Amino acid sequence: MGKQGINIVWFRRDLRLEDNLAVSHAIESGLPVLFVYNFEDETIERKEHDLRHFRFIFQSLLDINRKLSKHGHEVLIVKEDSDSLFLSLLEKFEIKTVFSHFELGLDFVRRRRKRLSGFFKEHNIKWVEFPSNGIKDLLPSREGWLAQWNDYVNQPIVTFPGFAFESVPVQGLSKNFGFVDKEFTGHAKQFQPGGEGRAKVVLQSFLRERGKFYLDSIPYPEKSRRGCSRLGPYLSYGCISLRQVYQAVSEAAKNPELAKNMNQYKLRLYWRSHYMQKLASEPEIEKRAINPALEDLDRGYDPELFNAWAKGETGFPMIDASIRCLEQTGYLNFRLRAMLVTFATYTLWQDWRPVADRLASLFLDYEPGIHYGQIQAQAGLSGYQTLRVFNPMAQSEKYDRYGNFLRKWLPELDPLPSGLIHRPWKLTPKEQEQYGVIVGKDYPKPVVDYDISTRIAKEHYWRLRARDEVTDYLETLWHKHVAPEKIPAYRRELNSPYMD
Ligand SMILES: Cc1cc2nc3c(=O)[nH]c(=O)nc-3n(C[C@H](O)[C@H](O)[C@H](O)COP(=O)(O)OP(=O)(O)OC[C@H]3O[C@@H](n4cnc5c(N)ncnc54)[C@H](O)[C@@H]3O)c2cc1C
Repeated sequence: MGKQGINIVWFRRDLRLEDNLAVSHAIESGLPVLFVYNFEDETIERKEHDLRHFRFIFQSLLDINRKLSKHGHEVLIVKEDSDSLFLSLLEKFEIKTVFSHFELGLDFVRRRRKRLSGFFKEHNIKWVEFPSNGIKDLLPSREGWLAQWNDYVNQPIVTFPGFAFESVPVQGLSKNFGFVDKEFTGHAKQFQPGGEGRAKVVLQSFLRERGKFYLDSIPYPEKSRRGCSRLGPYLSYGCISLRQVYQAVSEAAKNPELAKNMNQYKLRLYWRSHYMQKLASEPEIEKRAINPALEDLDRGYDPELFNAWAKGETGFPMIDASIRCLEQTGYLNFRLRAMLVTFATYTLWQDWRPVADRLASLFLDYEPGIHYGQIQAQAGLSGYQTLRVFNPMAQSEKYDRYGNFLRKWLPELDPLPSGLIHRPWKLTPKEQEQYGVIVGKDYPKPVVDYDISTRIAKEHYWRLRARDEVTDYLETLWHKHVAPEKIPAYRRELNSPYMD
């Protein structure tokens, strides 16, 4: 008897049933469908990944399975490398087509994609990969990109075709199947839980209530946790599609009370794809400066300084509170993310790559395209964007005046009054005694002198950035990554002074 002919939905960063072209095409193909998600050791072992990501993915898969199982279907969840997974499936089935979405990732994801593409060709398997997030792989220029992106986000949402289809039972497919790291199944209360259902709840609460405060809350460490959409992880793992969010927000923007906030929000959805497109167009920027002439900034790696930053033990309260908050919740607003990067790459003069890995492992919404592009932008590696080093004391004095955020994540500083909490190293011996906070014992002394280190770093950076090689490369960089109509303005701004 011949092998059973099947089609496969290979879930990647598209963990949803609705507006999922891979799912709908597979169901409509008429052949039995096998839904698959595989956790791979190659990914699990990477520095930029953390248990928090796998837990979120696992929760999202369980959510899909909850819906499917009522109708006798199930996603096969395995811990197995893609190559061996597809090989073992091939022993049992005649795989006609694999449906998936393009996964934007780092070099190891690209290499896997290339390997699989060869394997599928060799075995006469058709691989249909749908685009995601409005980005295109290896795009040479941004000519016409915005118009295509607008078309993409406005295309009709694809409805789930319903549950009346034949699926491949997953039970007993192999002894390896069904085994998933027990840790992935745990629940961590302070982290947003994964799932398509949860994504919709978060979106609705943003559109109905929280979105009214969006712009006002963005810069504040505490307020942003409620006033920002918090859709990041759901977008990153595809529990909801960019198109679904964009169209729902466009609808909400018709309400004059919400229009200003929602239009600003839509702009950020555009930035999202804009950054992702950078990595898709130039995968090398995972490892080298987007302006190669700035590759020779001699930023180093000092394990002591780096670890103090990475563990939140620098002696600068806003830096330490931000890291500890990330460790425990996976979320921080844009401003504090940028501050962490500029502190590490300017004030501590550390190389951006380990900084990027550490933060990726902390952000629940880690999305490689946005992440590496933003890290490079904040570390000043383009050679044309405004140099902005975020002063941690100024940030907390302005956006956390009474130190509520600092007190929450650094309880050791809680006894200090608001006027003293932002710069504990300025406490006199008498004050240290009075409040029971001994600097160097209860809380670290600053690892560097902020003003001196930052000034030296900026001067050094500026000297290197002002070199001809850096400006000579800009036309190439803009051609690849910037909309042609914006380039003249960038040329004009080239010599603008740097700011704090
Ligand atoms: C160094 C650094 C690294 C970052 N890494 C990531 C990352 O890995 N994943 C990620 O989703 N965002 C990243 N961001 C962008 C931004 O900080 C987060 O998207 C945002 O804080 C997430 O909160 P939210 O979902 O409530 O966002 P909202 O403010 O509600 O925005 C909605 C969505 O728009 C997109 N977005 C918002 N701001 C930006 C921006 N400045 N650039 C690009 N896209 C944006 C995100 O997809 C976000 O979820 C990074 C920013 C910096 C400075």
